[in-house]
Amino acid sequence: EEGMNAQDLGKLLHREPAEIVKKLFMLGIMTNQNQSLSKDTIELLAAEYGIESKEKVHEDISDIDNLYEHEMEVSKKSQNLVKRPPVVTIMGHVDHGKTTLLDRLRNTNVSAHEAGGITQKIGAYQVKLDDRLITFLDTPGHAAFSNMRARGAEVTDIVVLVVAADDGVMPQTVEAIDHAKSAGVPIIVAVNKIDKPGANPDHVMEQLMKYGLVPEDWGGDTIFVKISAKSGENVDDLLQMILLQADMMELQADPNQKAIGTVIEARLSKGRGPVADVLVQQGTLNIGDPIVIGDTFGRVRVMTNDKGRRVKKATPSTPVEITGLSDVPEAADKLVVFEDEKTARSVGEQRARNSLEKQRENTQHVTLDNLFDTM
Ligand code: GDP
Ligand code: MG
Repeated sequence: EEGMNAQDLGKLLHREPAEIVKKLFMLGIMTNQNQSLSKDTIELLAAEYGIESKEKVHEDISDIDNLYEHEMEVSKKSQNLVKRPPVVTIMGHVDHGKTTLLDRLRNTNVSAHEAGGITQKIGAYQVKLDDRLITFLDTPGHAAFSNMRARGAEVTDIVVLVVAADDGVMPQTVEAIDHAKSAGVPIIVAVNKIDKPGANPDHVMEQLMKYGLVPEDWGGDTIFVKISAKSGENVDDLLQMILLQADMMELQADPNQKAIGTVIEARLSKGRGPVADVLVQQGTLNIGDPIVIGDTFGRVRVMTNDKGRRVKKATPSTPVEITGLSDVPEAADKLVVFEDEKTARSVGEQRARNSLEKQRENTQHVTLDNLFDTM
């Protein structure tokens, strides 16, 4: 495209024109923002940004947030939508029973027939009730939820707010309500510890009215379930109510489109290299899929479900542990699938370079010397 200059390319690539000029300088091409560039130069630059350039630079495929959003939009218009399991985060004040509830759900879910009978720690797990699945994120607490949201990851469909019936509404209860509300995520209240002598569930319900959480019996639309996470009393009712809430929300996904997902946790394993726990959100993730996650890339090598079983594919709302990545991604990083490994690699490498560059720009002034170091 004769006539295009660094400003035009900056717009197309969502970069500052100055960055384009600098990039070209590093490639040995001197230009300014207004000077028109040759076709060869544009192609060179496109390759540098990980774009398979034809005649024109259409969009920046290294912008995986954009690709992720695109697939989200695709799913909204899809004709092949099926119900998907709800994804639930448990929140509440310290010591009100979040971990106890998560443990109970995890253990009741593991049937005696299950190999080993042990649920893997993969950042999330699924519970089955009447042949329907519910996905629980295994990190209670508000920091994880906030961190995900701060990074634009919206994985939670429903918040279960745990409030101890012998303690009532406490500061972190209110904080949890604020988090859920600002995320636009519906709350189901689990009034916990009803087995305790001092338990007063009605008092909790009264207290919560002040925060707009009014039980259906009292004319509101919030679901309350009185449970004991310790004894397991009414925990099945809670699951039932989560499914009811999910039905009202009509949570759906298209299992046939390209998979997108979000990292829940990631780590470096001595024997297996980078390992990421990913929640698949749309589409189906398959063994061998070329992927980019955050600034890392690879092919899905081994995929393991929450029961520790190897699986070949993962459908929407399924958490899986995957290996095969070039590096360890971060929690809340997005996963997208590419047509081929070569593209995934070039996008991943480009993103890693961009991050590194951004880090350097933030930590030091660019001098000619360190500019050449980045090459
Ligand atoms: P978290 O801080 O919200 O994760 O709370 P924990 O799950 O660690 O629970 C705090 C304490 O409350 C532990 O000693 C639990 O055994 C106890 N606990 C949790 N749920 C119940 C319950 O339903 N009944 C009783 N009696 N104790 C509970
Ligand atoms: Mg806990």
